[in-house]
Amino acid sequence: MEAETRQTFRSLSENVGPFRLKGKTFLIPQMNRIGGHLLAGAFRSFGVNAVLMDTHEGLDLGKAFTSGKECFPCQVTTGDILLFLNKEKERLGKDFDPDRYIYFMPEAEGPCRFGMYNKYQRIVLDSFPELESLKIGSLTSKNSYALDGMFDQEQTKEFRKVGYFSVVVSDVLDRLLWRVRPYEKQKGMADEFIERATHVLAGVFEQRGAVKDFEGILDKLAEIIQEGKKLIDPGIPQKPLIGIVGEIYLRTHVQANQDVIRLLEKHGAEVVNASIAEWVNYTTYDRMREAKIGLRLSLKQLRVSRIRVYLKKILSYGVDLSYQHYRQDQVYKRVKPILDLAQDHRVHHLDKILGKEKIYSFDVGTEACLSIPGILEYVHQGTNGVVNVYPFTCMPSTITSSIMRPIMNQKKVPYLDTPYDGSFQPGREAAIRTFMYQAQQHFKRHARDGSP
Ligand code: SF4
Repeated sequence: MEAETRQTFRSLSENVGPFRLKGKTFLIPQMNRIGGHLLAGAFRSFGVNAVLMDTHEGLDLGKAFTSGKECFPCQVTTGDILLFLNKEKERLGKDFDPDRYIYFMPEAEGPCRFGMYNKYQRIVLDSFPELESLKIGSLTSKNSYALDGMFDQEQTKEFRKVGYFSVVVSDVLDRLLWRVRPYEKQKGMADEFIERATHVLAGVFEQRGAVKDFEGILDKLAEIIQEGKKLIDPGIPQKPLIGIVGEIYLRTHVQANQDVIRLLEKHGAEVVNASIAEWVNYTTYDRMREAKIGLRLSLKQLRVSRIRVYLKKILSYGVDLSYQHYRQDQVYKRVKPILDLAQDHRVHHLDKILGKEKIYSFDVGTEACLSIPGILEYVHQGTNGVVNVYPFTCMPSTITSSIMRPIMNQKKVPYLDTPYDGSFQPGREAAIRTFMYQAQQHFKRHARDGSP
């Protein structure tokens, strides 16, 4: 492919948005591997030809087409899509048709740069004349990732339910891996098992997603948890528990974070990472919170038409959030009696913690809203140390670090920042080893019971 310098900015509005998926190949970038496979299965059950792209292999391309000032996830995903398209061109030759594809890159509003990835990548794609007609399918956190325009109207609501369910199920499968791997009977067993289970569950979503057979999917998940539990060697003593917070892409993308969970496990940890469903719930919760603020203001100003609009929004986001909680509870209630997997945080609870501590506010927004109270909640639950995983220069995670580092010092709970930018830092493993030594000491003194 030859890149051209000529660019037209009209395509930022024309070729980025919620396009209809019917008849297209929908390219999903990998963030967390399990979730990507399950989501692709859910899309396929609704007749969408969804493909989970390989990841991180195209990083050199990503770096070649970025300036170095972009966030690291932008470089990784730029490389993923360019490498995928290069391979497709090679595979299909003159039959390569960019119109056939929609590349999925959602966005978030707010003060950080995630809202710009798809615009930036549009500019990069437009620098290749043969890729101008390839569309970028985008959803936005502005409306809590509503899928309007991508499916037929009646399918939109149904897919949203199944898509969300796939997110919760993949969170649980991730948690199973982190719960079992530090205690596995034989090295490698847990990874192998979870890889197989991922493909089984992706197939189950593909077959049963569109008919909303949630119970059937849960039966399979419960069976997998039962099987996974058998990999645990009961003779291995309990280990210190480490909680992870941070930027969603980096903390879940194993290659981008240089497999930090495995490294922590190597030095004696059991790890639990913040979930993906937490972010989805946060966007719904935050839209509802904003609508409540708008309603209060409209009531003060007696603006009847605005009052109606905000009431409708509160009702709509309230129903969505209740539904999401209902499905999340359904999944965790089913699996927790089988194995003691970590429960997810509730967003309104995290908001309450911030309100009480007065160290940050949901009004500012970003993932710091989840990471800061998430750390406090980990401490409250008896976690023996916390790691903040994020891209180098990530704004919300830097805020988290600046607020939480002194607080964790006061609380005498080990805390570590691990920024990543694709380079290998020679001191990283030494820092993790030292952190884990501190976590071991904390564990000896407090076990995992959260006592001061
Ligand atoms: S959260 Fe961090 S990495 Fe993500 S867009 Fe914002 S600043 Fe960039």
